[in-house]
Amino acid sequence: MSKSLYQDALKTFSRAADLMNLDPGVRKFLERPQRSLIVEFPVVMDDGRTEMFTGYRVQHNTARGPAKGGVRYHPNVTLDEVQTLAFWMTWKCALLNLPYGGGKGGIKVDPSKLSVRELERLSRRYFSELHKFVGPQKDIPAPDVNTNAQVMAWYLDTYSMNEGRTVLGVVTGKPVEVGGSSGRNEATGRGVAVCTAEACKMTGKDISEATVAVQGFGNVGSASAKILQDDYKAKIIAVSDVSAAYYDPNGLDIDDLIAYRDQNHGLIDGYPKAQRLDREEIFGLDVDILIPAALEKSITAENASEIKAKLIVEGANGPVTPEAEKILLSNGILIVPDILANAGGVTVSYFEWVQDLQSFFWDLEEIRSKLKKMMLKAFSEVWYTMKDYDTDMRTAAYIVAIKKVAEVVKLRGIYP
Ligand code: NAD
Repeated sequence: MSKSLYQDALKTFSRAADLMNLDPGVRKFLERPQRSLIVEFPVVMDDGRTEMFTGYRVQHNTARGPAKGGVRYHPNVTLDEVQTLAFWMTWKCALLNLPYGGGKGGIKVDPSKLSVRELERLSRRYFSELHKFVGPQKDIPAPDVNTNAQVMAWYLDTYSMNEGRTVLGVVTGKPVEVGGSSGRNEATGRGVAVCTAEACKMTGKDISEATVAVQGFGNVGSASAKILQDDYKAKIIAVSDVSAAYYDPNGLDIDDLIAYRDQNHGLIDGYPKAQRLDREEIFGLDVDILIPAALEKSITAENASEIKAKLIVEGANGPVTPEAEKILLSNGILIVPDILANAGGVTVSYFEWVQDLQSFFWDLEEIRSKLKKMMLKAFSEVWYTMKDYDTDMRTAAYIVAIKKVAEVVKLRGIYP
């Protein structure tokens, strides 16, 4: 049987809970996902066959507000994975001081095997199954791996049709034409870039002199690479995705690589202007900064000791296993943890929800400056907690986040 991701995630929680002497009752409550919904639903395929699919939506904890978190379409989605992702969302939202709890969803499906119409029917049926569970004041989904603004537009429409009115605040990450926020697409990458620059500043490294490798070239990886190159003048020397890795010691042209990917079914495979490497070679490169921005468990005990970068900024959720983390920390590598580093996405999702509720929209400049301010505040809280507790940055981030949730649980009390 494969190891539970949730049990792994609890290890970090427990380390932080021990250090901060968390109340045992609150601890028991926060260790478990509050609600987990499994839906089995039919979809009529283009050839007239009916196929069954399994979907999930988990609300880990809603003490601080409605659940918030993305929906993932992937053949390996399991309840354990969705519960873990929801658990991480609770801490991410608290760390950024967003009035949300943690949620996450997923469908076990390979969307590349579906036509656009099949994908639409799958998305609409899944969201109908979730109807009673979600809503602007209950649970607000967003994009995650293999879902995008179009899928969010279908969710919005499905919910609105069932309600008999347009409900913009039910999902975030929507197209800007239907209540989306400017800056949402790049938000996670922008947050990663802000954290990378801040970590460089704190460790006395000049980011404009730094070399960077990025694993994963989807929404998070490509936006992180682009912003680090354009705004911070860092040199991105290697990028990988599911198909290949490309390397140029003089720096890749990220705009060109994004344009190539967009014309090549979303993959960088076959890019003619850089040296091709095996996908996994990205980890062993001689770079200053490594940004894992693909999926969880990418850096394991098997490849951790190859890593030469002195700074890892987690664009993905859970890219480093606990065993790998021990090796990395003992090698003196600073890890900016996922719940801080990739929190830019949910933060701009929060801005989108606020704009939808007040029907008043902000410009890109305002979004970027509010995002940066909130990311830097969270970074600084984590940094100084790390110093205070003499611990690593991940444990510190959990301490900050757990404190915020625990305070609310204490004030609200345990019902009844
Ligand atoms: P995406 O689907 O847009 O991109 C995923 C990328 O990873 C693709 O380029 C894919 O080819 C690549 N990939 C998959 N397997 C790989 C492998 N074995 N080696 C190298 N590359 C591989 O997804 P995304 O939205 O960019 O999400 C990436 C990660 O960031 C996930 O862990 C997600 O949960 C997390 N995240 C996303 C957001 C967001 O706003 N999109 C916010 C916070 C966290």
